[in-house]
Amino acid sequence: MGREVRRVPLNFDWPLKKVWDGFLMPDGLDETPCAHCKGGWSSSAEALKDLWYGYILFDPASTGSTPLRHDTPAVRARAERNVAQAPDFYGTGERAVVREGQRLADLFNAQWAHHLNQDDVDALVAENRLHDFTHTWSRETGWQKREPAVVPTAAQVNEWSLTGFGHDTINQMVCVQARCAREGLPVYCAECDGRGSFEAYPGQRAEAEAWEPTGPPEGEGWQLWENVTEGSPISPVFPTAEALAAWMSDPARGKRWVPPATAAAFIADGWAPSFVSIPETGVVSGVEWIGHHTTEEA
Ligand SMILES: [Zn+2]
Repeated sequence: MGREVRRVPLNFDWPLKKVWDGFLMPDGLDETPCAHCKGGWSSSAEALKDLWYGYILFDPASTGSTPLRHDTPAVRARAERNVAQAPDFYGTGERAVVREGQRLADLFNAQWAHHLNQDDVDALVAENRLHDFTHTWSRETGWQKREPAVVPTAAQVNEWSLTGFGHDTINQMVCVQARCAREGLPVYCAECDGRGSFEAYPGQRAEAEAWEPTGPPEGEGWQLWENVTEGSPISPVFPTAEALAAWMSDPARGKRWVPPATAAAFIADGWAPSFVSIPETGVVSGVEWIGHHTTEEA
């Protein structure tokens, strides 16, 4: 995730900024998508996912949940915050807050995500997905399980989901899978066994599993590569480390310029992350950091 020095042949001429072919799995190993599903899910699981996000009609009564109103405290608090942040858009005063509260209530009432029942909550707790309730956090100790164990109520979790970050995609998958299990519905597509694709020819999957990336050829040259993508060269090939350091520290390179000592230290080290956060100086480029770090140690 940054830049690295590679030793390549002096006549290595792979185009700059183009990912080295050997790092990419050949297209011929791509499987044929399953025509019966999207990504391996059963139609039941897909429907429940749509229900979670409100893409298909959801009724709070179906999970025994109470519909939200514009004046439900958590809804009202969010409406007040939205209106305060963008009065030009929402208008001001009580009418604006009520209107925005009603919009939010309608939106949330259409989503299973905000109307979980206790079975859903228990499934999330079993998968360790509700740390805000079941754990404490401090800088010193990190997350620690509450003793005795706490199981939040569905009402508590549904209120929580209206504040802060709420549920993520993993929570959605946990609830969908648990509900499929409870209702005896398949989670995965039976046609493709949940893989979402078929081998284009017999043995393709084993070939793809056995495939390993291969780096560029090795040689006497010195070249700077970025590995933010799979990996591509970003400098000419130089015959010596000093020549590469000189290129890196050439002021003509403008913003990408690094001091000569830093460039030399980086090449000696061979690898730098793109950016490093240092308390006293803030974020610096990874190459500068290597220089800073090495100078300090020396
Ligand atoms: Zn399928």
